[in-house]
Amino acid sequence: MYQSLLQDSKYFDLLLKLDEELAAEYRRAGCDCGGVLHSARYDRKPRGGPAGVGPTSGVRFSFCCATEGCRRRATPSSLRFLGRKVLELYSHVPGTTGYFRRSDRRFAGELHDRGIPLDIVDAAILLAVARRTIRSHDAPPLQKIATLHYFRPIIEELIAEPPPPGYIGYIRFKLAAVAPELVAAANHRLS
Ligand SMILES: [Zn+2]
Repeated sequence: MYQSLLQDSKYFDLLLKLDEELAAEYRRAGCDCGGVLHSARYDRKPRGGPAGVGPTSGVRFSFCCATEGCRRRATPSSLRFLGRKVLELYSHVPGTTGYFRRSDRRFAGELHDRGIPLDIVDAAILLAVARRTIRSHDAPPLQKIATLHYFRPIIEELIAEPPPPGYIGYIRFKLAAVAPELVAAANHRLS
């Protein structure tokens, strides 16, 4: 379900459209100095994107403050860049509903804006899945994960207190049998 979505150029077009919306909102808000933001797009190839996407798909929206003496450059969050990687790992999480929500895409963009490193997000997802999976046999059945927001508390937890070295490796090892696709996707990125 997700996999075909992530490789679908229509889905990519949707991300582009959402990026345009995020960029427009950002521009309307203006610079922190009160200045007007001018468009300063630059080309960048998004990695791992599907083949056959349009010529504008590699354009990263960027702005430059028009005020003399400020000229701050700003690049709003992009779902086609970091957000895509977060959504990609999320798509391998067992026990989700199988759909992305609009708010999931926004949350992925927010993580990008805050400069949260991808390995923190990856670690949070692995840890949350481990907590769900490794539990007693007589525990009540778990609800499906309906949104990427499910991982928010654990992301915050790991930002406040990063896991000790080797811990995430241990989690990956413990999860390999129960969530092989997720671990394979995470290994591919973390190593
Ligand atoms: Zn400015």
